[in-house]
Amino acid sequence: MYDVNSKCADDFINHEEILDTLAYADENKENIELIDSIIEKAKKRKGLTHREASVLLACPVEEKNQEIYKLAEQIKKDFYGNRIVMFAPLYLSNYCINGCTYCPYHAKNKHIPRKQLSQEEIRREVIALQDMGHKRLALEAGEDPVRNTMDYYLKSIETIYSIKHKNGAIRRVNINIAATTVDNYRLLKEAGIGTYILFQETYHKESYLQLHPTGPKHDYNYHTEAMDRAMEGGVDDVGLGVLFGLDKYRYEFAGLLMHAEHLEAAFGVGPHTISVPRLKHADDINPDDFDNGIDDDTFAKIVACIRISVPYTGMIISTRENQKTRERVLHLGVSQISGGSRTSVGGYYEPEPEDQKSEQFDVSDNRTLDEVVRWLMEMDYIPSFCTACYREGRTGDRFMSLCKSGQIQNCCHPNALMTLKEYLMDYASPETKAIGDKLIDREVLNVPNEKARAVVLENLQLIQQDNRRDFRF
Ligand code: SAM
Repeated sequence: MYDVNSKCADDFINHEEILDTLAYADENKENIELIDSIIEKAKKRKGLTHREASVLLACPVEEKNQEIYKLAEQIKKDFYGNRIVMFAPLYLSNYCINGCTYCPYHAKNKHIPRKQLSQEEIRREVIALQDMGHKRLALEAGEDPVRNTMDYYLKSIETIYSIKHKNGAIRRVNINIAATTVDNYRLLKEAGIGTYILFQETYHKESYLQLHPTGPKHDYNYHTEAMDRAMEGGVDDVGLGVLFGLDKYRYEFAGLLMHAEHLEAAFGVGPHTISVPRLKHADDINPDDFDNGIDDDTFAKIVACIRISVPYTGMIISTRENQKTRERVLHLGVSQISGGSRTSVGGYYEPEPEDQKSEQFDVSDNRTLDEVVRWLMEMDYIPSFCTACYREGRTGDRFMSLCKSGQIQNCCHPNALMTLKEYLMDYASPETKAIGDKLIDREVLNVPNEKARAVVLENLQLIQQDNRRDFRF
């Protein structure tokens, strides 16, 4: 039976409830009166239920869809301003004992080179990432309890945080690794991780079991209940995601929002982020072998509907998407993007040789971080390298209350400008620096509080003239 508070995956992601939701959405997808009332509710910026949001997602009425896009854009501006947080993935290991049918790291793939970075290799990769200007990483790995142990992850996190090269530093390490125990989540929290990210892949249990035929990941309930264990272990920033293309997108969308509702109900904190990856070609994986691919318009609609349904949740898009798609969804709600990414194990320090490619999927946006930063600024976005919230202990409900208090513009906006200034001083090309300095001059005027504005101006000077770094509100 559907129960948002239950600790059992079958209850909080209840199959019948999703089917009922989809039927309700189908019945009402052209019910203009209802759609208008849902849009009105969304305008209050308190979010939508999975049922309400599913009606909007199903709605084919062009005029209403335009209203949804407009509202998504407005909510994005209200909560995140024009800031876009930057990050890069770092693949630690592609050893994996699972049989995921869509992932080239599946255990039966005997020809993909298997690699695990040593601490020395991690050091080299991290220095290369720091030299690009990155401050925030998402660690990625396959599941192999013998090789990719918790000790290995903890050691790797320690290594990453310890590297200080020139003015570089990785200030926030997020981690995307297989579902684990409460005790292990506690260890990850103590090691200083930011967000624990785990994609559900699909919320459709029957499909899930087929798509994950072998290995520990086959256990749907253990995987789906991972975020509950993470929260119990003290990790209060968790990142959800669905791999779009595996099952029907409307089913996944309802499941995703039910998961968010469950975390909010059971722990008082919704997900910190939601990722929206789409299935990509990779090594021995052909996305056309899966029937549920979604086109760019549907993808944009999903992003907009997530934005208005969970306004306080950051939304992440990776380099799986090309420049054009990224541009479109940035306007509709995405708040975090990667740049200059490699999805291979190693590859930042030096490119992998042609015959030893270990990539997880093909990257569609191959631009350098400098190019991505410049592109964002040319569209009047502020690329932000800020990691302040997590370092100031503003995680979980404390982060949410910052959003709700309306103080975000006096806090996140200055932090974005100061970290962008660091980037421009230390890593940017002359062209990017010129555009960025002008942007900062304009944007500093948008810090509402006079005192805060004065502090930012002073800190910007100190960054420029005294080589000082790491200011934050
Ligand atoms: N091993 C971890 C786990 O058990 O969830 C996750 C780490 S994996 C490196 C990161 C994510 O990449 C997966 O959760 C999956 O959604 C995504 N992925 C796998 N194969 C993909 C493909 N062919 N195209 C796009 N994304 C893919």
